[in-house]
Amino acid sequence: MADEQGSINIFGDLHPYNKLFDVITKLPEKGMAEAEVLRQITYMSQEENKKWQGGQCSGTMYHGGMEHYAFLNKVFSLYSFVNLLQRDLCPSGTKFESEVLAMVGKMLHGEEVGKVNPADQEAGAITSGGSESIYNAMFVYREWGRAVKGIEAPEVVAPMTIHPAHVKAAHYLGMKVVRVPVNADFEADVEAMRARITPNTVALLSSAGTYPHGVVDPVSKLSDLALEYKIGLHVDGCLGGFVLPWIEKLGYPVPVFDFRLPGVTSISCDTHKYGYSLKGTSTINFRSKDLRRYMFFAQEDWPGGLYTAPTVQGSRSAGLSAAMWAAMVTMGEAGYLQAARAIMETSEKIRAGIAGIPELRIMGKSTFLISITSDVVNPYFVNDYIYSKGWRMNGCQDPLGFHFCITLPQTMPGIAESFVRDLADGVTFAKDPPYDTPKTGYLYGFGGSTEGREMLRQGMKGYVEAWYEYE
Ligand SMILES: *Cc1c(COP(=O)(O)O)cnc(C)c1O
Repeated sequence: MADEQGSINIFGDLHPYNKLFDVITKLPEKGMAEAEVLRQITYMSQEENKKWQGGQCSGTMYHGGMEHYAFLNKVFSLYSFVNLLQRDLCPSGTKFESEVLAMVGKMLHGEEVGKVNPADQEAGAITSGGSESIYNAMFVYREWGRAVKGIEAPEVVAPMTIHPAHVKAAHYLGMKVVRVPVNADFEADVEAMRARITPNTVALLSSAGTYPHGVVDPVSKLSDLALEYKIGLHVDGCLGGFVLPWIEKLGYPVPVFDFRLPGVTSISCDTHKYGYSLKGTSTINFRSKDLRRYMFFAQEDWPGGLYTAPTVQGSRSAGLSAAMWAAMVTMGEAGYLQAARAIMETSEKIRAGIAGIPELRIMGKSTFLISITSDVVNPYFVNDYIYSKGWRMNGCQDPLGFHFCITLPQTMPGIAESFVRDLADGVTFAKDPPYDTPKTGYLYGFGGSTEGREMLRQGMKGYVEAWYEYE
């Protein structure tokens, strides 16, 4: 895609190291020396750490403390080679996972479910990440719908803002996602969702908070709706599940979204985001053991023996679960509260700064994630400018904008102030940009038509294809 400045690669350079190191396209005849491997890897990781360690990168690096990571890596190293599927070899893994689930269950008020129905007991599982937690939940609703309601063509009703992992899961599982426009605050429109419920609806979906805007859907009203229609209600807490409970405890207004609501039947919650663990773990929590049962797989007639697995994954590293447990017990409630306080103080500073820039508008009731748009200038030009100053935001559409998911690296002194300064300069830039099409806004106007959308999808798949090429 070209602009007046000449040709630019919209996805960036996928192969910046090709000129520095040999491109390896077949197994080396003789193994490379470990020292050489470490030299190359150390160089690459240091280069890449520079991109976020200054505190300018939205989301993705939730903790950012290299000492914290070094500690988790030490824990990981003791178990990196252990397979959690072979439980007899690692009863420690059973301890780590059951204790993590107990801690997460308490954080989400799992003890409340028994007060509604004494037969229910909150129960969860560890997965490889938010997408797998969501996949497992969607699978449970499909199976529950078939078993209890005889539904053969399962549908879920979701706000437009629901994370693509749900749409992807439905794609794999042969389910239909009915996506409903959100209200002016970017929250689920409960009555519009009600109107889309059919006899094939197995569950409603919601988020706490949403990825585009960080808002909490009106889960309490959706809970009533789910109870009325006797269907499931999933809360995607992948992003907010590990930070909103602490924000609430600090006294900030946070709508209730967890098992305190009687209609909430599952919650996904990412330990590898605000849980501050290593990448590769998440939790999925159900209202009852009966619901969780639908997720389990067991095959008794295989020549290889009896096979059973709780989630999609088969073999997986006990190291990740050990590190997840270690992250949680070392953080403790005090650590999570302190982190949430620092994140909220930074967010408040940024919000106050944005309030002083009349051309910008924050979308929805934000807490730890600030989504920015403008009714005056094209926000993608603002993003172009701040991108040139080293900031890495996440682009949003419908309406155009970008979001800043505040994590611990942003709580360093001066980050909020310099972000606000660059934003203000970005608005000045966007009022009279030196080129026509924003570089960070290549979606602008292009995805509006059916052909445009199909072209985009093909282009996106081509981009993923390029991940697996070596030059
Ligand atoms: C990150 C995220 C997911 C998906 O989780 P992965 O860990 O990326 O698989 C789902 N929902 C929300 C709101 C998220 O932020």
